[in-house]
Amino acid sequence: MIKPAKRTEEIELSLIRKMFEVTNPDAINLGIGEPDFNVPENIKNAMIESIKENDTHYTPNKGILELREEIAKKFKIDNGIETDPENIIVTIGASEGLYASTQAFIEKGDEVLLPNPSFLLYEACIKLAGGTITPVDCKMENEFKLKAEDVEEKINENTKAIILNSPSNPTGAVMEKEDIKAIADLSMDKNFLIISDEIYEKIIYDKKHYSPGKWSDNVVTLNGFSKTYAMTGLRIGYLTANDEICEELFKVHQNNVACSTNTSQRGALEALRGPQEEANKMIAEFKRRRDLIVKRLNDMGYETVKAEGAFYVFPKIEDEEFVPKAAEAGVITVPGEAFGSNGKGHVRMSYANSYENIKKAMDILEEKL
Ligand code: PMP
Repeated sequence: MIKPAKRTEEIELSLIRKMFEVTNPDAINLGIGEPDFNVPENIKNAMIESIKENDTHYTPNKGILELREEIAKKFKIDNGIETDPENIIVTIGASEGLYASTQAFIEKGDEVLLPNPSFLLYEACIKLAGGTITPVDCKMENEFKLKAEDVEEKINENTKAIILNSPSNPTGAVMEKEDIKAIADLSMDKNFLIISDEIYEKIIYDKKHYSPGKWSDNVVTLNGFSKTYAMTGLRIGYLTANDEICEELFKVHQNNVACSTNTSQRGALEALRGPQEEANKMIAEFKRRRDLIVKRLNDMGYETVKAEGAFYVFPKIEDEEFVPKAAEAGVITVPGEAFGSNGKGHVRMSYANSYENIKKAMDILEEKL
């Protein structure tokens, strides 16, 4: 056996995948982390056309200029971020943006503030970069929303960065504007980097999304096409940051992947320029399912926050055997502790499954657990 590097040896494989391995094939899967919708037709056609035209070569490292121009417009309109195509990098999903951000800015001795619970990739990327994690609690009493005062308490001279994720995976929590602004101000006062993962920006209900990049210059804003346009397998995302930060990110990106997939970039261009009806329909359907699942869980006595975004709920379920028992009965869920110690006593349920299946899954839980 060849000895792996310490930084990879320390990382564990995802508990989510493990869950999928152990269950029966007929089970209803509420463990899913991607939309159960398909890529809209206009986006598919744009990609097919581009392939037929042999537009299948390397693109500029930062991405096709036209696409970066559209992304710059989007940042201005949706996020109040003034940026420039030169300060935008089209990435292999938000995942690559996250990897580039941590590789470019985190090293041994750096502390990274990390909401607990949070998305699995964050911990892995921080560790791969050699950094240390300082958890910041997202409390159920605050509907799992990260609060600026809890962040401020954890800042010290080694604090190098914070990762924000609103709307959140795994809780669906949407941060309040004043907390985002306060953390943005802190990042300027105390000189640390905000890595803001805004991948669920559009999957939000009766609430407005705010970007810290509107108020602070020390921000990498990460986003992508996986969720809003159901383009997960096409692996396409983007980021923006100021000149100095972007230059460092670009070094990692250029030497790691050269450029994002040409075909996916063509699809992404159509996604931004074309009609938004499919995306809007999907979001409306997610809201309908959210209302159903939250009501059913609360009616069963599993205390559940009516999450304002993403497609997850995070009910309080203290029975440690719940996840395997539910899987046995035919409903796959994910143990909350997969997302950090504060996830203990909770279960993540995704409603990226049909309304009917969610209903059936809730009936099964009601009857059998
Ligand atoms: N961030 C979060 C919070 C996610 O949930 C996911 C996907 N599960 C990603 C990033 C990865 O997105 P992408 O497909 O753009 O790499």
